[in-house]
Amino acid sequence: MAIKLIVPVNGPITQLFGENPERYKQWGFPGHNGVDYGIPNGTPVGAAVAGTVAAVAFENGGYGNYVKLSHMDGSRPYFTYYAHLASAAVSPGQKVKAGITVGFSNNTGASTGPHLHFGVKIEGQNPAYKGYVDPMPLFTAGGEVDPTDTTSTDQFTDAVKLPNLSFEVLSDFLNVRNGPGVEFSIVGQLLKGAKITGKRLQSKSVWIEYEPGKWCAVAFNGIVNLKVK
Ligand SMILES: [Zn+2]
Repeated sequence: MAIKLIVPVNGPITQLFGENPERYKQWGFPGHNGVDYGIPNGTPVGAAVAGTVAAVAFENGGYGNYVKLSHMDGSRPYFTYYAHLASAAVSPGQKVKAGITVGFSNNTGASTGPHLHFGVKIEGQNPAYKGYVDPMPLFTAGGEVDPTDTTSTDQFTDAVKLPNLSFEVLSDFLNVRNGPGVEFSIVGQLLKGAKITGKRLQSKSVWIEYEPGKWCAVAFNGIVNLKVK
């Protein structure tokens, strides 16, 4: 079995899984435990997959108003979280189909601006994150390359060779992924000041491969991560 999700809202991603370790220490996580979407207050939030409403609750200083859905992947239970809502549109115990509105977005709880926090928790997985996993590889919409296929980087046929161009990392933390896009899995992090030599460039979204299967974004959401040395 495999978990297959649809994106809960259409909006720009403002924070990825694993980012900003300093901020998430206070909740006992090594980094952000979900994906954030910057969307206007009142945006309908859809269920990422069919399931049952496990909780409609308020967490002060955390999720604010949130909805938790429970799901089964074969015999393995997992949960999806929709946080910082204005209000829920579902009740505990209710069965929901994928895409049905579970609530309306806002800025409640520990939130610095209108957004949806979306999280996925699989019992027994990723202990450092208390079961939370990166949702990005689980999304099926958009026809991305299978992010679990790390056997070859040659699937990125639009990547071009670079003439050993050197870069320095400008951001405090830069996620390294196993493909040129945020839909790929995080396989490491680079710290500010690190120097890498770009081997290939995926020009469409401007990602650099510096070792086989290790990619990072030159810029993301308007923030420049890498400068050419
Ligand atoms: Zn978040």
